[in-house]
Amino acid sequence: MSSHVFFFGQGKSEGDPKRRDILGGKGAGLAEMTVLGLPVPPGFTISTEACNHYSDKGAHPPGLQDAVAAALKRVEGVMGATFGDAKNPLLVSVRSGARASMPGMMDTILNLGLNDVTVEGLATRTNNPRFAYDAYRRFIAMYGSVAMGASKEPFEHVLDEARQRLVKARGMAVTAMNAEELRRVLPDSELPLEELKTVVAQFKAVVQKETGSPFPSDPQAQLWGAIEAVFGSWGNHRAVVYRKMHDIPASWGTACNIQSMVFGNMGDTSATGVCFTRDPSTGEKRVFGEWLPNAQGEDVVAGIRTPLPVGAGTPGTKGNSLEERMPKPHGELMRMCAVLEKHFRDMQDVEFTIQDGTLWMLQCRNGKRAARAAVRLAVEMVKEGLITEDEAVLRVDPTSLNQLLHPTLDPSAPRNQLAAGLGASPGAASGHIVFSADDAEKQGELGKPVILVRVDTSPEDIHGMKAARGILTARGGMTSHAAVVARGMGKPCVAGCSALAINYALGQMTITLYDEKGNPKGSTMLKQGDIITMDGGTGQVFLGPVPTVNATLSGDFAQLMAWADARRTLKVRANADTPLDAHTARGFGAQGIGLCRTEHMFFDEARIAAVREMILSDNVDQRQHALAKLLPFQKEDFVGLFREMKGLPVTIRLLDPPLHEFLPHKPEQLAQLARDMKVTVEKLQQRVSELHEFNPMLGHRGCRLAVTFPEIYEMQVRAILEAARQVQKEGLGVEPEIMIPLTISLPELNRMKVLVDKVAKEVFGAGDAVPFKFGTMIEIPRAALLADELAQTAEFFSFGTNDLTQCTLGLSRDDAGKFLPSYVDSALLPRDPFVSIDQEGVGSLVKTACEKGRKARPDIKLGVCGEHGGDPQSVEFFHGVGLAYVSCSPFRVPIARLAAAQAALKSKGSKGGVGTA
Ligand code: PEP
Ligand code: MG
Repeated sequence: MSSHVFFFGQGKSEGDPKRRDILGGKGAGLAEMTVLGLPVPPGFTISTEACNHYSDKGAHPPGLQDAVAAALKRVEGVMGATFGDAKNPLLVSVRSGARASMPGMMDTILNLGLNDVTVEGLATRTNNPRFAYDAYRRFIAMYGSVAMGASKEPFEHVLDEARQRLVKARGMAVTAMNAEELRRVLPDSELPLEELKTVVAQFKAVVQKETGSPFPSDPQAQLWGAIEAVFGSWGNHRAVVYRKMHDIPASWGTACNIQSMVFGNMGDTSATGVCFTRDPSTGEKRVFGEWLPNAQGEDVVAGIRTPLPVGAGTPGTKGNSLEERMPKPHGELMRMCAVLEKHFRDMQDVEFTIQDGTLWMLQCRNGKRAARAAVRLAVEMVKEGLITEDEAVLRVDPTSLNQLLHPTLDPSAPRNQLAAGLGASPGAASGHIVFSADDAEKQGELGKPVILVRVDTSPEDIHGMKAARGILTARGGMTSHAAVVARGMGKPCVAGCSALAINYALGQMTITLYDEKGNPKGSTMLKQGDIITMDGGTGQVFLGPVPTVNATLSGDFAQLMAWADARRTLKVRANADTPLDAHTARGFGAQGIGLCRTEHMFFDEARIAAVREMILSDNVDQRQHALAKLLPFQKEDFVGLFREMKGLPVTIRLLDPPLHEFLPHKPEQLAQLARDMKVTVEKLQQRVSELHEFNPMLGHRGCRLAVTFPEIYEMQVRAILEAARQVQKEGLGVEPEIMIPLTISLPELNRMKVLVDKVAKEVFGAGDAVPFKFGTMIEIPRAALLADELAQTAEFFSFGTNDLTQCTLGLSRDDAGKFLPSYVDSALLPRDPFVSIDQEGVGSLVKTACEKGRKARPDIKLGVCGEHGGDPQSVEFFHGVGLAYVSCSPFRVPIARLAAAQAALKSKGSKGGVGTA
């Protein structure tokens, strides 16, 4: 056995099924199924390390050739067939398989080993020449495009012409049919032998024309070309994009699986299919799958033909389910699904082929699932005694909860349904129609909501799918590329919407409208840019925008969150500026407000004039006058927040942004303000230019504002404390925390403390004071390094990791987007440090500040309120440094709650990887 090649077959596996890092997910699944005694065609896996060696050195590791030859010999032995043999040829599939599942992202080649000689051998042995040539033409197209780089369209074109010839021969009018209709009238399985032979010859000519090289007839050359293509596919564009989206390191590499072929396209007693051991959209406990009779390999997942259901009972498919058409292999498949689920203790995604009535298992892996399904599965598996509550909490990817927290269509809103397809990935979205991934990306970058509409999607469309709000396809089933990828992204997707006829060239689609009985009643035409709404739960598509409502979080979700809450030690607060935000946050389980950015209250139409007046004032009196107008508004804001939070802590940050952010820029706005302030436009303009800053993020902002204009903070503190007193008098609890932004030193913080104490004295006098806490944000590296000094005065720290990241890395928050992606793409930084905390740099400052703060004040309260508070990886880090809470936007509160629970479990050493939702 070579250290890079692992044989599996006849109930044994050389590779350790637990070593996904070496065998990849597919290889590990094959190894495991083989050992479990499931019917798996024999084969061997070439390790991920061999792929990495090939990527780094451009050559295979020593000994690989011999090891592959030896493993192939063993497969030949088991199958009783010989690779390249003229009479009894062994055919193999060559498929990629990385450690993490990356559906459709990398390459697969089937029927390898066929050439003009072996195809005749296959035809004679199977007594089925049509089948042999069908396999041959598929192989040439797959190999030509995957391993040799030919484009796919010319192959499709050849097939379309063949169909046209046949349809004509049958006396039907060809011109009236577009390619799509032709495919429906004449499925691939009906192309006769003679036509297939012509197609084979034409496909070879396509390869020659497209690549400049002849199609290789030597099976050994085919094999190594395919292995190299699989290894090379790890670096292809779509795989790179997918990795980045799912945080998969480039260093993992892909394994390559070479496996003896079994055929689902040998006639009506053969079939191919994919199934999940539970419903991947809802989580319901029933085997859910799709199959195609007389079809091969990728036909189901590629969405080229709309597949049939595995189980009986789907409306409109009576008599067509696998259960009804092939009851024996169906029963066997159900048995295999049960064995696999019990063994893996998780929902499995299974690929199978039925060759002449015999079931073969080709793949199993933990199935991708919509978040709703992930939650239901985890909760039900605990109830079934399959997994523990700890495992259930660890099973659900916190980020995937996004899908549950997002709006669905308002059930009472009027709507105009156009069509319906399969509800392939839940959620609702409205947007402008675009017909290409590039357009989706371009328009998405401009901030326009778009729905990507395609006949079907392929991995090349991934960037457009990422940019779109939703994905709508005319073809394909629940396991099509569009469905699987959208589910993974948490985007709504409607697939297989066959009423759509899309014309890419004209940028339009025609939709056939049906009456209630399913009879066509006319059609409508939509162009690029028109607005549609889609519901990825029900599969419906509507004309124009339809309003949405927020999700309700009960049942299984509430149960999972209750288990999570019982396990976490980190509290979760929300960043909320208004009573409405606070209300949403409470609904999501926030345990307080960790950051109220008071500046957001200033932009209200009723207040902005007074704010500008305050900023542009020449002297203290004028400023006081303007601030007096703002005081009642501010007080009202805080009263609303305190009431909503009912005694939970509310951290209010005093004004932070540079003042220029509030100033008018348009001439008419300046003129209006000059009139309001009774000064000349010239004078106002002069003040505006005085306030101009070159680097406002490092300029006159944070508590520096109060060093020069203490009146501003005085007004805010007065508003906070008067509001607190009022709400307390109403009989509600209040826990105000006054927070100073952008502090750099103890003397500066002490100046703020004096200011706050002075106002508190004025507000409370000798009467009953409302207790409050005084603290600071840690946003500047100096503050982190001198945290022991700051802790002498500050009763709490809240890490403003947005600014702390900006200042520590010297990266402008506003400009870094122009070049940061290149850093992440080329692995100069592991992740965007504004999304996931830079643990080595910024994280080490947080650690230092925590240690120093605790030393100076053992009961100091420590939290974080930067965007990182809602990022699961960062939450794990914050748990590790012992913060009391994280604070994030209301919609991310459940994500942070689950992430905090997972962090607690992981730090206790609980096993059970985060699931694949
Ligand atoms: C921060 O800097 O992390 C923070 C929360 O403040 P802001 O984003 O408002 O600057
Ligand atoms: Mg900040």
